[in-house]
Amino acid sequence: MLSRREPGFDEGDQASPPLLHKIGPASARLGVFGLAGVLVVLAAFAFSGALATYRAASATRAANEISDGFNDAHLAVVDEESLERKYRLEPAPAIRARHLAAAAALVAALERVRSKGTEEDARIVDSVLALHVAYLQAIGRMFAAVDAGDAALVLKIDGGEVDPSFDAIATAVSTAANDHHQAAVQLLARLEETDRNVAIATPIAFALGIGLIAIFGLALRSYRRQAQRAVAREAAGIRLSEQRFRSLVQNASDVILVCSAGGAVIYQSPQAESAWNLAPGGLLGQPLFVAFRVEDQAMLRDTFAKVESAPASTRKIELEMAPGAKDWRYCELLLANLLDRPGVHGIVVTARDITARRAFEQQLNRQAFYDSLTGLPNRALFHDRLEQALARSAQTDDRVGLLFIDLDHFKLVNDSLSHGAGDEVLIDAARRLQLCARSTDTVARLGGDEFILLLANLSSEREAMEIADRVILQFQAPFRLKEREVFVTASVGVAVGRANAIPADTLLRNADTAVYRAKMAGKARRVLFEDSMHIDDLARLELESQLRRAIVQGELRVFYQPIVRIETGAMLEALVRWQHPTRGLLLPAEFIPIAEETGLIASLGLFVLNEACRQTMAWQTRFADRAHMTVSVNLSTRQFQEPSLSADVETALSESGLAPSSLKLEITESAIIRDVDAAIATLGKLRKLGIQIAVDDFGTGYSSLAYLKRLPIDALKIDQSFIKGIVNAQEDTAIVQAIITLARSLDLKVTAEGVETAAQSALLQAWNCDRGQGFYFARPTEAAAITRLLASGSAASVRTEAA
Ligand code: C2E
Ligand code: CA
Ligand code: CA
Repeated sequence: MLSRREPGFDEGDQASPPLLHKIGPASARLGVFGLAGVLVVLAAFAFSGALATYRAASATRAANEISDGFNDAHLAVVDEESLERKYRLEPAPAIRARHLAAAAALVAALERVRSKGTEEDARIVDSVLALHVAYLQAIGRMFAAVDAGDAALVLKIDGGEVDPSFDAIATAVSTAANDHHQAAVQLLARLEETDRNVAIATPIAFALGIGLIAIFGLALRSYRRQAQRAVAREAAGIRLSEQRFRSLVQNASDVILVCSAGGAVIYQSPQAESAWNLAPGGLLGQPLFVAFRVEDQAMLRDTFAKVESAPASTRKIELEMAPGAKDWRYCELLLANLLDRPGVHGIVVTARDITARRAFEQQLNRQAFYDSLTGLPNRALFHDRLEQALARSAQTDDRVGLLFIDLDHFKLVNDSLSHGAGDEVLIDAARRLQLCARSTDTVARLGGDEFILLLANLSSEREAMEIADRVILQFQAPFRLKEREVFVTASVGVAVGRANAIPADTLLRNADTAVYRAKMAGKARRVLFEDSMHIDDLARLELESQLRRAIVQGELRVFYQPIVRIETGAMLEALVRWQHPTRGLLLPAEFIPIAEETGLIASLGLFVLNEACRQTMAWQTRFADRAHMTVSVNLSTRQFQEPSLSADVETALSESGLAPSSLKLEITESAIIRDVDAAIATLGKLRKLGIQIAVDDFGTGYSSLAYLKRLPIDALKIDQSFIKGIVNAQEDTAIVQAIITLARSLDLKVTAEGVETAAQSALLQAWNCDRGQGFYFARPTEAAAITRLLASGSAASVRTEAA
């Protein structure tokens, strides 16, 4: 970031050369080299013209000299001839001497030719000299004949030898002279032409040269102008960039400071005063460090020293401002060592406000590690704390404990009241758990209605159980919601372990297993994990696979328990049993929960439905007086939600032939409450088939009159737990009486469940309760036993025998 400002800050003058360099090195180079090139070409041109002229001239001169040499030789031989004739007429020694001189002149002329001429010329010279030697010998003999006056011999020698020799020599030399003369004439013509060419070309070449010089000169001039303009532009750009830089520095939200080595502030941008709430003059002259929180100053000093010691280095650091720094709380500093930089000579510190970013980071952190509803640590943070606690306990002899807390019936609150009410309960539950925790403990929400209390530094299991008791106690008080008060108890699973002995995951699983036990054992209690519980888990797994087989292999039985219309017995409730191959007859409590969890309940339920319909039809057919006998079949929550439910019921009826009015389905209050509107729709569909509906275990859920009125149902079954108390407990008496009155007002039949004594039966009869069901009348029993009872006669006998 800082590097972008550099040109504006201190490198203004140095910035131009690179730019000039950019705009025209090519044109400048072209100008200079062009000019030099033209001059060199012109000089070369002039030199080559002169050379051509010189060569042509010297060749012409050489040709002329040789031609002259041969001509001289010709003249000399002609001289010899005439002197030879003269000696014949006038034989005087002077004439012979002149003849000898002429012969010598011939030889000299030929030797001149040899020295200047070509090889061809030398050959001609050699042959002429040979002819001349023969001529001179012949002349010698002829002159002797002249001296002797032997005219006949003279004539003979002259005609036979001298004249032919003379003719041959004269012809040879005159021919050669002529040839060379011709060549000289030709060379002269060429010389003239060269001269003419040079004369024409020279002005053209020079004109072209001057033109080129002008062009290159212009190019150079334009290059210079361009360069000047570029320099001006660059200077303007630098001024602009500097202005921009200044306005940036002065108006940026960042605070910019320049410090001397050692940390004293020597420049500060205007924001420093306003953003950091400084007195006029701000930090000028003071150490930079004082602007920051005391705890952070050492770190800043350290960073500053590092930057100062390394030229051109930069470093970033995040700090908290000293108290009183107006809007800024957290700040990011970028320190850059520009001590070597001309125009700066300092450590430039750019400070940026990161308060908002920090807040956002903290919020993200909260979201990642904290539950938004309760503000408690979430599962991720809990895991982290658990690992830490285990690691710490490895050093000490302490243990780590987990309380796994699951709210009882929380789903009911959520479903029957509202999610808002559910949230209120969770928030208050979190508060209550925090009351139980010690300062070293962590309360976390794992999700839904599951909480965990991590107990660090635990001395014993007993200590953990005591805290668990406190939790149970905390949940005994009602939750006061906006709309109403509700009771939500807590089940607590306790697991205690030591580091090295147990991994975190296992400890958590143990606590989970223990809480499951607490729920199974009736909720609102705490259970300490024991190793045997895992064995029980295995047993559960085994039971599940066995149940699968049981359904297929026909190990399930349906028992029937009469529902006594107090005076006549015409109704039965079908209750499933499992004839286990090794463990004997099992009650529903031992396998229905597993069937629910695994989905096996669908086929199990179907089996009971079909079997109950078939059996009841068989009894109706066999016993004429039982033609209107009805059978009640229990539906689990899951079965009730099954989309195929009414189709399954229709099939069961049509396959067995049982009249719909003979079948009653029992559905628990909690199954209905999950989704009242959907329940109303399903119940309506079943009732259209002609089937009766009873609400089972009535009174245990969050019964609300409002929805009860809307339900298409025929009967209520008061839960056993209330019947137990009607003889002694006033509260139960009030509840049971209220339910009976309610049922009457809604025109519903009412059955009391779990009637065990004559006293209970008498009371119920007195309160006009329509029907009773319980061990006092009859225990659930297998179909064959019912058949025997029916065969033997009355409802009374049903009671007597079964009881
Ligand atoms: P439930 O529908 O409330 O059935 C009545 C339970 O009370 C039966 O227990 C019955 O044996 C017991 N009981 C009847 N009279 C008395 C009495 O005087 N005193 C006492 N202490 N208990 C009495 P059981 O057969 O063990 O069944 C338990 C639960 O299992 C049933 O409660 C029902 O919710 C469920 N269940 C049974 N059969 C089926 C079935 O075929 N399908 C489904 N989905 N659930 C079934
Ligand atoms: Ca029932
Ligand atoms: Ca019941």
